[in-house]
Amino acid sequence: MLAQLVNSGDNLSGGRCREEFERSFGEYLGVPHALSVTSGTVALEIAIRLLDLRAGDEVIATPQTYKASVQPLLNYPVKVRFCDVEPGSLNLDPQHFESLITSRTRAVILVHYGGLPCDMDAVTAIARRHGITVIEDCAHALGSEYRGRKPGALADIGCFSFHSSKNITTLGEGGMITLFDGALAERVDRIRSNEADAVYHEQVRPIAERTSAHPWMMHPGLAFTHGCGTIRYGGTNATLAEPNAAVGTVQLLRMDELVGRRAEIARTYTEVLTQFPGVRMQRGTEGVRNAHHLYTFFVDPASGIMRDRLVSRLDALGVQMQLRYFPLHLLSEWRAMGHDLGECPVAERMWFEQQVNLPCHPGMTDRQVDRLASAVDAVLREEVRGTPIEAGTARKTKGWT
Ligand SMILES: *Cc1c(COP(=O)(O)O)cnc(C)c1O
Repeated sequence: MLAQLVNSGDNLSGGRCREEFERSFGEYLGVPHALSVTSGTVALEIAIRLLDLRAGDEVIATPQTYKASVQPLLNYPVKVRFCDVEPGSLNLDPQHFESLITSRTRAVILVHYGGLPCDMDAVTAIARRHGITVIEDCAHALGSEYRGRKPGALADIGCFSFHSSKNITTLGEGGMITLFDGALAERVDRIRSNEADAVYHEQVRPIAERTSAHPWMMHPGLAFTHGCGTIRYGGTNATLAEPNAAVGTVQLLRMDELVGRRAEIARTYTEVLTQFPGVRMQRGTEGVRNAHHLYTFFVDPASGIMRDRLVSRLDALGVQMQLRYFPLHLLSEWRAMGHDLGECPVAERMWFEQQVNLPCHPGMTDRQVDRLASAVDAVLREEVRGTPIEAGTARKTKGWT
C-alpha cells in the first residue's frame, strides 16, 4: 500500500489519504470534526491554544498522566490547579475537581488513565454548570468505551496520539483533534496549516477606497480587499503526511482486533493477580470498556507486598517494568511554580507505594504473556511469604494520607 502511494506520483501531503483517515476516524468516534496533526503533544498544544487563556486564568488538570498533557500550559500566564485522582481508577476525582473551581477556572484537562474512561457524566455535569471547557486527553483511550459512547466524543475537545506505543500508530508519530464545534474546527485547520489564527471577516470597505491606499491595491481579486480581524497567534505546520494517514486508516480497521488482543492479555494477568488478597485491579465507573493501553494493578503494603521490591524483583526476572506516571506536580518544572507534595495525596500515595503497570501490547506472543504472568505469580508468592513490613514505614512524607 505504501509503495503504491509513493509510486503513484501523487502529492505526499494534504491529499485524499488524510481526508479519508479523518472521515473514518470521526465516524468511528461519532464526532463531526476530526483533524489530524503530527503528534499527540501538538494536538494538546493546539487544544490549549483554542482556550485563548489570559493572565490570571486557571486550568485544572490531573497529575497522573504523561507530561505532555499539561506541558503547554507552562507557556501561558495561568495558574494550574492539579486535581487529585480516585484511588480505584487513577482518573480525575470529580469531587476534588469541583472543589478546585473558582471564578477564574477556564478548563479542565483529564486523561482516561491507561484506557479506563473517567467518570465523564459527573465531570461534564460539573463543567457545564460552571462554564468550563473539558479537554479529554485520549492518548490511551482509542478503542475504549463509556456507556455506549467513545472517549474523544464525550466532551468539548479530544486529543489523540498515534505514537508507536499507542493503541494504533500512523507509522511512528501522529495525532488527532476531535471536536463538535465547527468554528473551533476551522481554527484548528488554520493553525495546523500555517495560516494565522485569526477572526476573519469580510472587509466592509475595500482598502483601495481608503485615502492611504496604493494604486496597486485596487485590483479586486487581491487578498487585500478582504479584511482580517484580530490575529490571535501565528500558525504552524502540523499536518499529517499522506503515508502516515494511509497507515492510520488501515490501523483503524484493525481496531477491534488490536483492542481484543490487549483484553486477552489483560485477562491472563487478572487471573493470576486475583489469587492475591493484597492485590487489587484498576477499576472504573459503571459501563466502561478499558482499551488497556496500560495494564494497571495496585499492591497493599499492609499485606507485605512492597511495590518497589516487587518491581525490582520482576525487573531482575527480565520483565521490562515501566511505571507510569510520576505525578506531574512533583516534576521540577511544576515545583518551580510552587507545586509540592501533599497537593494530590491520593496520586502521591498510589505512585510511591501502590501502582504497578505490566507490559500490555498486541505484539506480545502468547509465550511472552505466559512467561510474564508466571514471573508475576512467582514474585508475588515470594513477597507474600516474606516478612510483612508495617504499612507506612517505607516512606513517611508530609501530607500523605
Ligand atoms: C503519548 C501521550 C501523549 C503525547 O503524545 P505524542 O504523540 O507522543 O506526542 C500525551 N498524553 C498522554 C497521556 C500520552 O500517553
